Amino acid sequence: KAKEAGRNVMRFFDLGMQSAVTVRAALENDLRYSIPNHEFILYYQPQVDRDGRMTGAEALVRWLHPQRGMVPPDEFIHVAEETGLILPLGKWILETACAQLALWAKQPELAHLTLAVNISVRQFQHEDFVEQVLAVIDQAGIDPNKLKLEITESIILDNVEDIITKMDVLKNHGVGFSLDDFGTGYSSLSYLKRLPLDQLKIDKSFVRDVFTDTNDAAIARTIVSLAHGLELSVIAEGVETNAQQNFLANAGCFSYQGYLFSRPLPVAEFELFMKQQ
Ligand code: C2E
Ligand code: MG
Ligand code: MG
Ligand code: MG
Repeated sequence: KAKEAGRNVMRFFDLGMQSAVTVRAALENDLRYSIPNHEFILYYQPQVDRDGRMTGAEALVRWLHPQRGMVPPDEFIHVAEETGLILPLGKWILETACAQLALWAKQPELAHLTLAVNISVRQFQHEDFVEQVLAVIDQAGIDPNKLKLEITESIILDNVEDIITKMDVLKNHGVGFSLDDFGTGYSSLSYLKRLPLDQLKIDKSFVRDVFTDTNDAAIARTIVSLAHGLELSVIAEGVETNAQQNFLANAGCFSYQGYLFSRPLPVAEFELFMKQQ
């Protein structure tokens, strides 16, 4: 009942008049309807190699709220995690991304693309996670080597053995793992080196301040060396300028994602962008 009231409040007051608690309750309530109402959409952001070739994309979810318009994931993913709604939402994201990958595989200009999908901690922790991913891959009929799962250091809160076991099963099927937002978490390097990862993803906060903060420049360089030392690939997110790209290339990072190349795009625009390259 309280939640229904929250939903009604939405209709009579504008955002500025709502308390944070009411906004949160309304958001939480709306989120429950958002999956059956098909209010989500995936955007795709290109990933680029040293020669400017488009190698793949990252799928990024957006919520097209009927009243609020486009709600960015930073505003609702944590609510979805706390309420458990991330499980059905995460499943939809994975299914939609894999169905898209299957369509690209049929088009000569797009068939080479890999697709990175963000996986939340709660989704990864679910006991059926591995089976679910394998079932989705099978159903879509995609090449598992084209699928990359982005996880964050926060999964290491769990039993490391369990995490390794799960990752190993998927890796043996060809699925890749990238460690997103690397450098912003608290994981110890000794745990990190045990995870069967394929890639480290340098967080955009380090890339952003590479010329204004010597610490961030040092961290970015260190992540690249660490990746090389652990025989992992490395990609930088949030690359907005040529100067940032050059800095990263000088440090030994040759894979990039960011506004310099393209913003995340709806699928039709993404495909057009790819075909124009
Ligand atoms: P992330 O996975 O680290 O994604 C990178 C974020 O950086 C995206 O924000 C992207 O739009 C943004 N970005 C890309 N290039 C640039 C750039 O050059 N400059 C700047 N300033 N930003 C750039 P977005 O799409 O708002 O997503 C935010 C976060 O929400 C993601 O961070 C991820 O943690 C989460 N998220 C997004 N989609 C999903 C999803 O499908 N599932 C889950 N579980 N989480 C998701
Ligand atoms: Mg990501
Ligand atoms: Mg990231
Ligand atoms: Mg992030």
